[in-house]
Amino acid sequence: MKMSSVIFLGTGGGRMVVLNQFRSSGGFWLNLDNVKILQDPGPGSLVMVHKLKLKPRELDAIILSHRHIDHSNDVNVMTEAMTGGGFHPHGKLITPGDCLNSDPVVLEYIRPMVDIIEIKEGMEITIGSIKIKYPIKTMHSCDTFGPIYEFSGGKLGYIPDTEYFPELAGAYKGVDYLVINVVRMKTDIRIRHLNISEAEKLVNEIRPKKAILTHFGLQVLKASPGLQAKKITENTGIDVVAARDGMKLEFDGRESLDRWV
Ligand SMILES: [Zn+2]
Repeated sequence: MKMSSVIFLGTGGGRMVVLNQFRSSGGFWLNLDNVKILQDPGPGSLVMVHKLKLKPRELDAIILSHRHIDHSNDVNVMTEAMTGGGFHPHGKLITPGDCLNSDPVVLEYIRPMVDIIEIKEGMEITIGSIKIKYPIKTMHSCDTFGPIYEFSGGKLGYIPDTEYFPELAGAYKGVDYLVINVVRMKTDIRIRHLNISEAEKLVNEIRPKKAILTHFGLQVLKASPGLQAKKITENTGIDVVAARDGMKLEFDGRESLDRWV
């Protein structure tokens, strides 16, 4: 089996954490059966990529879950980095349509450098030997989609920004690994985000082999993400970890190991 991994370039979410950089906010870098994907390049993604000695030219795809700045700020600079300043066009940019249309976050001049794919609910894409599926559109304040990546080590699901709704668990049922964005401890109905109890409910219903919490807002940081992950493990019996900036998790099909890059 080929070695696959995820590296967290950033684990911050929400205005206060991202604007003050209490945690980095560069999204996560996947290496799945040697296919390299950057998901949600928020502010500082380019900086973290180089700090962690990753090679942007090796990327096969950049994916946006949605247009909010903490997920998309570095999309243009990372597309240039992937394509050597546009001199070596290659790779895919997979994005919701509202990142391309009115008030676009993807600049016009960047577009010829990549193969742009607009996400639709239910869509499936193949890159090399891996598959990317979009099981459901989430409920957020703009078009938002989280993929399930299928690779030789299993299925990895990503639940991006969303408010809780009952169909979410069914959409991600059967994944082996699950990354969940948990911005808040308590819900504010004006902000359509998961809180920690809703994340626990999803972990309990989906029951992956391992769940990874990330994208923490200030409330979650103050409540210690590590402690919250431990509580969810105690309540559900599922292995849950809180991501840290620069954390690498390897998927070997049997278990995953936390280690620092
Ligand atoms: Zn958002």
